[in-house]
Amino acid sequence: MRLIIPDIPEEGLDHELDLPVMLNNSMTPDIAHAVLKILRFKKKVFIEGSININVTLNCSRCCGDFVQPMDNITFREEYNPVQEMSHDSDQELKPDDLDLSYYYNDELDLQELIKEQVMLSVPMKPVCSENCKGMCVRCGKELNSGPCECEEDKLDPRLAPLQQLKEAMENKKTS
Ligand SMILES: [Zn+2]
Ligand SMILES: [Zn+2]
Repeated sequence: MRLIIPDIPEEGLDHELDLPVMLNNSMTPDIAHAVLKILRFKKKVFIEGSININVTLNCSRCCGDFVQPMDNITFREEYNPVQEMSHDSDQELKPDDLDLSYYYNDELDLQELIKEQVMLSVPMKPVCSENCKGMCVRCGKELNSGPCECEEDKLDPRLAPLQQLKEAMENKKTS
């Protein structure tokens, strides 16, 4: 979905739209519902918006996919044409709560813009649940569905020397 900058009327634009958002390693896109208020002042474009999305994330502990509802991701951005920014000296005048971005060739990709905002709001290390047990560091088994074999070894450390002795004897027998 492309927004053509010169087409934005002076009085602004209100946009409400559903756009597919594809994050890093998910297989199917999630649909973002975005409400945008777009204003233009000569070549400067201001976009204020809020996004709702049920985003599919990959758990950083167990690697499973899970759905995280994200309500009301809000943002305010100012967009300037990229070629003119280098000569712009009044950059410091920007208010703190306004993020500065650029657009190219008189157009803005709204889908890209919304994806960016969703990505900014997604946690760095998402977890499917506070209680996620993750994966075993030794065998790689996902532990939410049950313990792995090595977990059982760990449960009784007193048996470890005995196990080693047994293995040593078995090795002797075969050699
Ligand atoms: Zn998990
Ligand atoms: Zn294991």
